[in-house]
Amino acid sequence: MDGDSNAGRLTEREASAMTGPRAEPVAAGPVSLLVEGTVVTMDPDRRVIADGAVAVAGDRIAAVGKAADLCRRHPEARRIGGARRYVVPGLIDCHNHIAQALCRESTVEDFPNIYRIYIPAEAVQSTDDVRVSAQVAFAQLLRAGVTTMAETTCTEAHEEPIAETVMETGIRCALARGGWDRESRLAGNYEQITEKSWYRDDPAALAEDLARTEEFFARWFDRGGGRLRPWVHNLGVPSCSDQRFLATDELARKWGTGVMTHINRDREEIELAVSLFGRRPLEHLAAVGALTERLVAIHAMLTTDREIDLMASAGAKLAHAPVVCTDIMSAVTRVPLMRARGVTVGLGCDTVINDVLKLMRIAFIMHNQAAMPLFDPYGFSTADAFEMGTIDAARLLLWDDEIGSLEAGKAADITVIDANNVRLTPSTDPVATLVRYGTGTDAESVLVAGELVMHEGRLLTIDEEALLDEAERLGARMIAEMAPRRYVQLGTNVNYL
Ligand SMILES: [Zn+2]
Repeated sequence: MDGDSNAGRLTEREASAMTGPRAEPVAAGPVSLLVEGTVVTMDPDRRVIADGAVAVAGDRIAAVGKAADLCRRHPEARRIGGARRYVVPGLIDCHNHIAQALCRESTVEDFPNIYRIYIPAEAVQSTDDVRVSAQVAFAQLLRAGVTTMAETTCTEAHEEPIAETVMETGIRCALARGGWDRESRLAGNYEQITEKSWYRDDPAALAEDLARTEEFFARWFDRGGGRLRPWVHNLGVPSCSDQRFLATDELARKWGTGVMTHINRDREEIELAVSLFGRRPLEHLAAVGALTERLVAIHAMLTTDREIDLMASAGAKLAHAPVVCTDIMSAVTRVPLMRARGVTVGLGCDTVINDVLKLMRIAFIMHNQAAMPLFDPYGFSTADAFEMGTIDAARLLLWDDEIGSLEAGKAADITVIDANNVRLTPSTDPVATLVRYGTGTDAESVLVAGELVMHEGRLLTIDEEALLDEAERLGARMIAEMAPRRYVQLGTNVNYL
């Protein structure tokens, strides 16, 4: 932890952020709020400030430093947090599907399930249903201290209700609207005597969807004080043409955002790409010029050394959903190697666990154990896991000029963790403690863009009591709708009588 010796350096840094190189001006106006505790900045020096505070002015961080100093300078400001609190950057979820929030149980231990359960489960939801799903998912995320999430929609009718719910609930969102323009079919092993794999692209569907995407960008860009940024979701190589990948990359470049795509996820997808193009999916995107620094590869579990090098040299990013690695029983993504080669990796909740602190622990255990046969305790550390849910996640979303760390001039997205318990206190290294022992329920207060959205355990933007009734109704319907799709029925041991 830092002692008083950092105070001088901090003042310099503040001064440079206020007046120096940052392009975005720091919001004018008085400091209205001080968030106090042990501040885990995640700044370039990874400073941790004991007895620290973050000063908030409008939607910005005005200063980060010692609490005593900031209290003296801003005696009128409201104070939250305090002793035995950790003040961390708002956590970031790099991959999710809102419309799957209430059907996640339907997939437990029943594989494969994406096309059999998840996609049909989205399709049966009306626009009102998806508002309930979005409120549930955002409530779970905000309650867990997650201030930014990346949504990848698959259903056009869901885009507007999800975007509107982002506005209402106060969360920050990279919202990728989905689209596809390719039909394809893999000739399976037993069909290859008579069949060949094939694909057919639909240029008219592409033109129509690109026009819709342009409209979506124009309608939503920078709404809610810049809390919503539109992105593009290309479902994957089996359902999106090369032209779509290239055109959406260009469109995203124009707006300063990016493209998310599910890729190198399962064996069938790899076999399809190899049988159609003689290349693996990520190799194919590189060959056609669509592997760029704006591409977020989702999952990429089945990725070769060659493909990792291609990602690194293109600057493409990885959204890593560690629970889904095991949930779809494909493989464990080669995260330590990707990070070592320079690929930026962020963590994704991907519906099944809307809790980034827990995800950090799962990722730590998953990737740290891979280093055990080499007796390398530094193969994948708690600090690596924490970066993937904060500053690296912000880099992945091309949003690190605003979020991912607590630094003067950035947006005031702040999570206060209650450590007033024997599980989280005492600690000599808050990052290690949070990754190893923290959970989302430890989040006490949450700010997004300077607005308190949760205070001392109470959500301020969502009526949770009313939401629970609606969630139960919709959840029961979703589970009933999906039950016939399961191979093995759930809940056979539950006696409701
Ligand atoms: Zn996904």
